[in-house]
Amino acid sequence: SNHDHHKIPQATAKRLPLYYRFINNLYNQGKARVSSKELSEAVKVDSATIRRDFSYFGALGKKGYGYNVNYLLTFFREALEQDNYTKVALIGVGNLGTAFLNYNFTKNNNTKIEMAFDSNPEKVGTKVGGVPVYHIDEMEKRIGTDINIAILTVPAQSAQPIAGRVVECGVEGILNFTPARITVPPQIRIHHIDLSIELQSLAYFLKHYPLEEEEE
Ligand code: ATP
Repeated sequence: SNHDHHKIPQATAKRLPLYYRFINNLYNQGKARVSSKELSEAVKVDSATIRRDFSYFGALGKKGYGYNVNYLLTFFREALEQDNYTKVALIGVGNLGTAFLNYNFTKNNNTKIEMAFDSNPEKVGTKVGGVPVYHIDEMEKRIGTDINIAILTVPAQSAQPIAGRVVECGVEGILNFTPARITVPPQIRIHHIDLSIELQSLAYFLKHYPLEEEEE
């Protein structure tokens, strides 16, 4: 059926939240339809990719009409399981960790950082962005079997041992912001985001692959 999400390629699935946010905005503005060109400009994905992605959702845009906003919204809601709440724990309340706790992904209404851990006694017992910070020694006790995702913002050398511990707690996914390349069992999903590498890579591309000016 159209709602069989297992057939969606991973690259497409990763763009789902982006599409969802934009379509939700259109819906709130009372818009009934959207063209792939409009979508493309808003989410910065080329329109050929959008058309291919949307064909997996069973949304076949009509020429001169575009896509039905209502249909897409229903599809994205189901696909993203907006009511299926994902609980997140953050480990390492340093500069980056503190920023995430203050931000706490308030635009995603289905994910929330519930608790944070740190080894620094000055941070333990405080609240950052409303999230309680517990001692790392209490991690197993506090997490129980309740947390789906762990965000790692600890120093690189602590990433692997902490990853092993969160996996033991039944965490299914790890968002790793440390430069450490972590090994986890095959059933655990791990996404690596190294912000300094991303920045360097962008700087390199700017220097060596400058974008062409658009021809008028
Ligand atoms: P800060 O200025 O607060 O030190 P930072 O991001 O520069 O921030 P890092 O050395 O990267 O500091 O450490 C990030 C956070 O991880 C710190 O709050 C630190 O106390 C904490 N931390 C370090 N080792 C561990 C550990 N093994 N378990 C839990 N937290 C840890």
